[in-house]
Amino acid sequence: MMAHRYRLYPDPAQQAILVHHCWDARTLWNAVLEQANCWRPGRKPSPGNAERQRQLTEARAAIPWLAAGSSSVQQQALRDFDQALRHWWAGTHRRPTWRRRGQHEGFCIRDVTVHGLNGTWATVVVPKAGRVRFRLSRRLPAAVGMARVTQDRAGRWHVSVSAAQPPVVRVATGGAVGLDLGVIATVTSSAGAQWHTPGLRVPEAQRLRRLQRRWARQATGSRRRERTRLVIARLRAREADRRRDAVEWLSTRLVRQYDVIAIEDLPVRNMLASAAGTVDQPGHGVAAKRGLNRAIAAQGWALFRRRLQQKAATCGVTVVAVPPAYTSQRCARCGDTRPANRESQAVFRCRACGHAAHADVNAADNIRAAGQAVLARGGISPRAPREARTDPVAA
Ligand SMILES: [Zn+2]
Repeated sequence: MMAHRYRLYPDPAQQAILVHHCWDARTLWNAVLEQANCWRPGRKPSPGNAERQRQLTEARAAIPWLAAGSSSVQQQALRDFDQALRHWWAGTHRRPTWRRRGQHEGFCIRDVTVHGLNGTWATVVVPKAGRVRFRLSRRLPAAVGMARVTQDRAGRWHVSVSAAQPPVVRVATGGAVGLDLGVIATVTSSAGAQWHTPGLRVPEAQRLRRLQRRWARQATGSRRRERTRLVIARLRAREADRRRDAVEWLSTRLVRQYDVIAIEDLPVRNMLASAAGTVDQPGHGVAAKRGLNRAIAAQGWALFRRRLQQKAATCGVTVVAVPPAYTSQRCARCGDTRPANRESQAVFRCRACGHAAHADVNAADNIRAAGQAVLARGGISPRAPREARTDPVAA
């Protein structure tokens, strides 16, 4: 399954209702999260979904602002939380975390009703807000069950529905490729191709730096500062949109071209956790900036890998993840492995056989070979050796 996301255009009155729904969903989520966090072994079981729903009914009778909101949106927020808990217990997802204001704004609607207006516009029924217009940037899936409405930091509204990934049309090529995911948001293939993730253009990046300096000078809580924040958020949203488009394009292209795609099994989750917060509050220091770059790169990789796997699964392409240890130091031709083989960031020159190549292409070729070795063994990937921690690339 994948998400289809459409830009939503509420009128001002509807927008106020949507904001209220977000507020309700976030507050309730955090309240039941706190309740679940307070539970300790030995106490009586923490409340399940039925008990939480009953508590909500009581709270709605006692608290006017809660009663003013939509009960179906509020009930759904509790169901979402219940599902998040189950996913965590099942080990498929991370532990549910706090939803922060301005950062995780959204709510879910059940039993979605959609009306098409024409080929370009449609409406979705949101509780209390009625029919809200959205742009049909792509065809709607045949059946829409649930929808999630979100507001991003740039103030834009979207509605997402889940849909089956349409199969990628391809013919078998017999080709295998390894992909090296670089630190500066680049993808290098073992065939020698390199793609750079598009970011902001030079004038846009300059403007962003100017705005960030201005934002830092402006008084906390002032209107001007909020306006500056919004412009910064819009620039960042543009950057993120470009990156998403690039990921779609490249993943389709690679899945069409190769039967086997080997990628590094990077601990993206750890990288994201260690850089948490820096995306939204980038500091001035070098460390903060590096953290930010890592976080952005990790987000991009996680998305790229997910889309690659989703598309590959529709058309019989195999994606195999291999431990990244030593891929940057090992000679793809003779196997000699030592730090000195990597002459510089860009140049690989084997001390044993003299093989010279672009460092990332050499690494990608090792990843391809490791992936094919894993498949030859029946798909069982070896654990990364302990010494992997000393590898400058893995570290
Ligand atoms: Zn060599």
